[in-house]
Amino acid sequence: MRFSRAYIPTSKEIPNDAVLPSHILLVRAGYIKGVASGLYNFLPLGKKSLDKIRAIVKEELDRSGCQEVDLPFVTPAELWEESGRIAKFGKELLRFRDRKDGLFVLGPTHEEMMVALVRHQLNSYKQLPQNLYQIKTKFRDEARPRFGLMRGREFIMKDGYSFHENENDMKREFYLMQETYKRIFIRLGLDFRVVEADSGAIGGSGSREFMVIANSGEDTLAVCNSCDYGANIETAKRRPHQQENIDQIEMEFAKFKTPDIKTIDDLAKFFHVPDWFIAKAVVKKAIYENGSKIAIFFVRGGDEVEEKKAINSINALELVDPTIEEIENAGLHAGFIGLLNLPQNENIVKVIDLELKNAEPIITGANEPDFHYIGVSLKNLPDDKNKFADLIRVKEGDKCLHCENGSLIYKRGIEVGHIFQLGTKYSEPLGANFLDRDGKSRPMVMGTYGIGVSRLLSAIVEQSHDENGIVMPLAVAPYKINILVSNIKNSDELAFGENIYSNLIAKNIETIIDDRNERFGFKIRDAELIGFPYTLIIGKSLANGKVEILDRKKAVKFEIDSDQALNKILELVE
Ligand code: ATP
Ligand code: MG
Repeated sequence: MRFSRAYIPTSKEIPNDAVLPSHILLVRAGYIKGVASGLYNFLPLGKKSLDKIRAIVKEELDRSGCQEVDLPFVTPAELWEESGRIAKFGKELLRFRDRKDGLFVLGPTHEEMMVALVRHQLNSYKQLPQNLYQIKTKFRDEARPRFGLMRGREFIMKDGYSFHENENDMKREFYLMQETYKRIFIRLGLDFRVVEADSGAIGGSGSREFMVIANSGEDTLAVCNSCDYGANIETAKRRPHQQENIDQIEMEFAKFKTPDIKTIDDLAKFFHVPDWFIAKAVVKKAIYENGSKIAIFFVRGGDEVEEKKAINSINALELVDPTIEEIENAGLHAGFIGLLNLPQNENIVKVIDLELKNAEPIITGANEPDFHYIGVSLKNLPDDKNKFADLIRVKEGDKCLHCENGSLIYKRGIEVGHIFQLGTKYSEPLGANFLDRDGKSRPMVMGTYGIGVSRLLSAIVEQSHDENGIVMPLAVAPYKINILVSNIKNSDELAFGENIYSNLIAKNIETIIDDRNERFGFKIRDAELIGFPYTLIIGKSLANGKVEILDRKKAVKFEIDSDQALNKILELVE
């Protein structure tokens, strides 16, 4: 490519809505251009890099026996009704009617479509397993599209689905995909971690996220500083806190007047006890498909409730903060909500953290203004009225559950992949059945595997840039080498550059020659902004048989003999 003919609109201007370096740089370097909230044009450079990411993803998947297909982006709403997801997906799902008044949705993910593709086709265990994927546009009407390609509304995802005769075979495939994904992200030059992830209502341990480590990441990870345990904070577990360094105290059961003492801190001071002995009540309004309830979560005074765990424990869609009226209408008294005498009705749900199981003595609200109970024992609480679940949001410094001496630290991550042991969640409602080895009809067991292909371009830049611009890894760079002719009016310089250029093109090496009639400084700033891995600089010293190579990643320039230039470049890019 000739830079003079290329559509590469570089600019100094920072887009209004851009805060992340990756967003700013991809726009400034002319890879992408915003259209509307969460919608982006891919310009020639962006398209080239995106295609390279796509190719690496495809190569590794095909190597692992996955097969690429291509399903419509527009999907019939009927399928979403069959699976029951049309209501659950909410406003992220963009719906519209065609000329015959048929309802359709723009595919945000393709479980329904993929199951519909194979049902009635895969009828026997003999045809299983199968693993089908596509790399394709998705649309999610995200509440807060932001950070450029990182959270778009229209974006490109690799979505894969596998079909199996039993759990074991699905697990085998799941681990194969885990290894395949690792190879992909290593080839893309990313610093990433595989972490345990929330499996939502499906439960189980069958979900892993691939997180690119970056301070700007939207996800918080808890990782062990000693072993390889890592988990999304939404699901991270710790070694349960022990009563170390806290003396056991004697407390007779009693109802105690605690006028206007509502917070954990105030209670601890008032009773002169560590917050370990106080049950903290966190009150939320739980939203369900058809209505809402008041939900109360109990943890020890020093602990916090992890929202995702809380949601899963009561199978809600989401949790929001209730108003004072809503709390009062439920018969509750903020600041005095406790485990005893809690109003019993179907509009209130209660969950107690597992670390409070059998705890004693405990101080807890009396469900009456200005009173608490002290000396309460949580031993032998009847199970039918007391649901226990892990509710804890782990903190930095908590002990690792998986090794002797490790403790947990937080890291920030960008989710670029998610693999999931799905089971029969979609095959069952959509009737994707097969005849098993005993001739019995059963729903296929599924796995599902996603990669954020367009998000990856942002993640790569987020991890690989400096104050001058993008540092594109060789594997995804739009051009491997940029031949910068400092002064195109110097015919020797230009001829030398053209000669190297045609040699490289003949060898199929992606090369761009900066033959623009611009100053050297302007051209080198563009080269650094775009992040070409190597730039061959042809300048005045060509007269003395010397040229320079700029290595963008190492940020060094070195001089070589001009007659060695071609060999050196070939050595660098191959
Ligand atoms: P997130 O928690 O970031 O919203 P998700 O859990 O909704 O992601 P999945 O449904 O698992 O994502 O989709 C698979 C992959 O698609 C994700 O791992 C992510 O890399 C990518 N992805 C999801 N939403 C977007 C988006 N709005 N823009 C770009 N990529 C996305
Ligand atoms: Mg999402």
